[in-house]
Amino acid sequence: MKKISKDNIIYSFKPDMNPVITVNPGETVRVEAWDCFKGQIQSETTLCSEIDFDQINPATGPIFVNNAEPGDTLKVEIMGIDMADHGVTVIVPDEGLLGHMVKAPATKLIPIRDDLCLFDDIKIPIRPMIGVIGVAPEEGSFPTGTPWRHGGNMDNVHIGPGATLYLPVKQKGALLALGDCHAVMGDGEVCCSGCEIGATVTLRIDVIKGASLPWPLVETPQRISLVVSGDDLDSAMAEATMEGVAMIQRAKRLSWEESYMLSSLVMDLEICQVVDPKKTVRAAFQRSFMTAKGLLKGRAL
Ligand code: CA
Ligand code: CA
Repeated sequence: MKKISKDNIIYSFKPDMNPVITVNPGETVRVEAWDCFKGQIQSETTLCSEIDFDQINPATGPIFVNNAEPGDTLKVEIMGIDMADHGVTVIVPDEGLLGHMVKAPATKLIPIRDDLCLFDDIKIPIRPMIGVIGVAPEEGSFPTGTPWRHGGNMDNVHIGPGATLYLPVKQKGALLALGDCHAVMGDGEVCCSGCEIGATVTLRIDVIKGASLPWPLVETPQRISLVVSGDDLDSAMAEATMEGVAMIQRAKRLSWEESYMLSSLVMDLEICQVVDPKKTVRAAFQRSFMTAKGLLKGRAL
């Protein structure tokens, strides 16, 4: 199995990135990823205010996928996330929803033992996830800390082992990169960090020809959700609703009016994160209502 070391990192998703490895559709790869601080915080005496912020949010890659062309969809199955033995979480003045109340930066080291995150004597079951994962955008340059249509810093708790992520291919080879894993995170990531942790991620990568997505789509065993970002929560929720209604129209072949009514009954609007340069929500449905396979089969979303 091919492995990509964390020596190969990017800090922006751009149309013309240099790939570090090439894989074939259907191939499984292991991707080593730094934590979001690039390993600069290893003890509680290291504060977020002291580190080099130019090194925040490295993403390992990019991976060139043979046969991926603009207009296709990249299918990324997350087979596993092997995490380091500890993570960290931080607070910093003026960061996060209550940043104005933070008087001084602080760091909490969080050991991982027996699938539990140890926040001192409070035990939290791990829920591994990938914070940053994306492909080359159609145009423009997006810092890895920013989420958008190409993916990026979506901070979506659903993007973990057992999930399949679908990303819109805009450049030849797709050019996939990822980083910023979390051992656990709550929806919102309100203080601005999850349990930030280095990890090695195992992915199976495939290409779905001729199916294009407006935004990333995530499928877990139970749910399917479109992952939509906006300049603020209101605009993200409006866009997610518009696209969610369009998904219902395509899946159920209903009028827009009926789909809009139905969306209010079956679609959950959920927060991914509210602390990044753009805010991210998901329009989520039960898989008993619709599946990615049904949506992507032979037609554009
Ligand atoms: Ca993040
Ligand atoms: Ca993070």
